[in-house]
Amino acid sequence: MTPLNETHNPQLTSWVASANLPGCDFPLQNLPFGVFRRADSAQAFRGGVAIGDQILDLGAAFAAGAFSGAAALAAHACCAPTLNTFMALGAPAWSALRLALSRALREGSPLQAALQPCLLPQAQAEYAVPAQIGDYTDFYTSVHHATNVGKLFRPDNPLMPNYKWLPIGYHGRASSIGISGQTFHRPVSQTLKPGAAAPTVGPSQRMDYELELGVYMGPGNALGEPIAIDHAEQHVFGLCLFNDWSARDIQGWEYQPLGPFLSKNFASTVSPWVVTLEALAPHRLAWTRPADDPQPLPYLDSPALRQEGAIDIELEVFIQSAAMRAQGLAPHRLSRSNFKHAYWSVSQMVAHHTVNGCNLQPGDLLGSGTQSGPALEEAGALIELTVGGTQPLTLPGGETRTFLADGDTITFRGASVTPGAARVGFGEVVGTLLPARTPL
Ligand code: MN
Repeated sequence: MTPLNETHNPQLTSWVASANLPGCDFPLQNLPFGVFRRADSAQAFRGGVAIGDQILDLGAAFAAGAFSGAAALAAHACCAPTLNTFMALGAPAWSALRLALSRALREGSPLQAALQPCLLPQAQAEYAVPAQIGDYTDFYTSVHHATNVGKLFRPDNPLMPNYKWLPIGYHGRASSIGISGQTFHRPVSQTLKPGAAAPTVGPSQRMDYELELGVYMGPGNALGEPIAIDHAEQHVFGLCLFNDWSARDIQGWEYQPLGPFLSKNFASTVSPWVVTLEALAPHRLAWTRPADDPQPLPYLDSPALRQEGAIDIELEVFIQSAAMRAQGLAPHRLSRSNFKHAYWSVSQMVAHHTVNGCNLQPGDLLGSGTQSGPALEEAGALIELTVGGTQPLTLPGGETRTFLADGDTITFRGASVTPGAARVGFGEVVGTLLPARTPL
């Protein structure tokens, strides 16, 4: 686990004035990494760090001579159009660059004049997926989500007997993961309508989102060499917001016996900024397991996990329909949840994923699974909020929703907020459902 150091000092302020405003997602204590370029330009995408409402171009800062030693090597690795090389360098390199950035962007830094020209306003930027994601695995770490959805799909048997023994996951599709702002067409596949004797093919009628966190892997492991739980976090570069769009009717017909397929692989959306585990160090919580639940097997347990294996990240879901946009109505909050409710931790996901020798590689993405809290109104998907589509929600302007309508935009926001520590925000991830392609 990362000890607190000078970069976490909540008293620090930046010469980038917007970073010091209350409620800012990207104060000096955060320093998340992403890949950007000037919007509508032919520039190459390259690595940057968010500070206030600006982006520091890491390659430009390197060229301006802002870094030395390990921090310079790390900044140079960020000049590429993806962060895989930087992710592969490992925690000492990430930490060296974070410390150098904290000092360089701090109020009174002698580097201010040299770095000022290396800033681009976020409002003038566009982003790309921060890594070449080789493999993507989606987990299912919220016991509340698993129970709520299980009741709908299998009323007699909501939680499978393995759930409390291992972090359930499936191998997903990396090619359709897009950056915030992603739009995609309502997917078409087979569904079995209630009471029908045979399936039909057509557009999904039960389109949903899934409120998740994404976990980007750092160095990873050689094939055949598991990552022990106490080393797991050294292999995690950072976390992002992640929307695992889901077609529930397609899922219901196809998911047994091998799990989700076309119900999930048409689109998934990541936020531009990746928040490092080091930035989240002040927002750690004890990881607990109810005393009357099975306790983790030894390879999924450790004193460090028990002490601070959980992370306090507040999560929010907003919807804005096409009609709301036309009427100038602001996005409407559908629910709030928190990653601290997860039944399985990030370190347990990594330890379990590799216990059989499976090799994780730099830039691989793990999805946390839908993060639903204990209360129904804390659900991270419409299928739970509307109880399987039986209890419609009313939106500002009077529309109702059970599942998503064409033109709906879903936004997730996230932030770690702990008394005595600086707020660490995740920014947002936005995506919009377009009508199905016609003709089929
Ligand atoms: Mn999912």
